[in-house]
Amino acid sequence: MIDFRSDTVTKPTKAMKEAMAQAVVGDDVYEDDPTIKELETLAATITGKEAALFVPSGTMGNQIAIMTHTKRGDEIIVGANSHIKNYEVGAAAVLASVSYHLVNETHGFLDIEGVKKGVRTDDIHYPETGLICIENAHGSGVVGSLESMEELYTFAKNKNIPIHCDGARIFNAATHLNVDIRTLTQYTDSLMFCLSKGLASPIGSMLVGSQSFIKKARKNRKLLGGGMRQVGVLGAAGLISLNVMRKRLKEDHDNAMFLAHALDEIDGFEVDWNKRDINMVFVKPALNKEYLHEKMKESGFLLGGYKGDYLRLVTHNDITRLDIESFIKTLKEVIKTN
Ligand SMILES: *Cc1c(COP(=O)(O)O)cnc(C)c1O
Repeated sequence: MIDFRSDTVTKPTKAMKEAMAQAVVGDDVYEDDPTIKELETLAATITGKEAALFVPSGTMGNQIAIMTHTKRGDEIIVGANSHIKNYEVGAAAVLASVSYHLVNETHGFLDIEGVKKGVRTDDIHYPETGLICIENAHGSGVVGSLESMEELYTFAKNKNIPIHCDGARIFNAATHLNVDIRTLTQYTDSLMFCLSKGLASPIGSMLVGSQSFIKKARKNRKLLGGGMRQVGVLGAAGLISLNVMRKRLKEDHDNAMFLAHALDEIDGFEVDWNKRDINMVFVKPALNKEYLHEKMKESGFLLGGYKGDYLRLVTHNDITRLDIESFIKTLKEVIKTN
């Protein structure tokens, strides 16, 4: 199966499996796992932060960050279409006991005027604004600009409010902007990024930030049951994600662009070019949704979900240029026989 549903479907590479089999491990709750220590040091270095923490999932990483930055009863500012708001089971309300103040996103980034209006003043009736959460690359396939990040960070520093970046695909954002990731991370206090998406690890995400933040975060990870033992078997894959896979993301972006152009040339198909920044293509097909999914599946292609009328297709390490060519050829046959 050629799987366009998400970059989470990437299988660990052969090199990863070998490294996992040979990983030197220890009990990571005792901070005794040398492979995890190496991974955390590398993640901190690459992102230009003091320290890092390996976590089982991106959701847990974001939620630990919220728990660590805020206190019970605070309000957090989040994008109305963000992952933290929409796809984490309302966890911030349950785990950190905070409420959400929603701000719209434009061009993949929080509307800064909306953030400014959303920050609470000192009033006995109001909760305190404890955190601003940003998302880059945004799940809608758009990369927020460096200018927006800088403007928001300067504002937040003046107000003494921390920023957490949900950077599940931060390396895709950096690849799109053609900058070192530190150019982005200088504008956030903490950052979560996923090893398990485009970077092809089977499991795992990293949370990075200051030494004192990560110390508290480590305890919150334990509270959530996320303290793991000989987890260096996963850390070994994570190291390959950061040392090798991180550097090939442009290939996924180029493949997505190739796919977008090929789709756009098909009669009646419309690509959303405003969302064409990373490894995602949003396309409005001129075919019945269920029929298209069914027929393509019969031929060995799994398609993603819909956002309104737009189908999402995601390129990744397990999809080659040849796979895309054969996808387009099959799609044209399906259209012809419809
Ligand atoms: C995938 C994703 C997450 C969460 O990652 P999981 O590992 O699936 O919990 C968070 N934020 C964004 C934007 C994502 O795309």
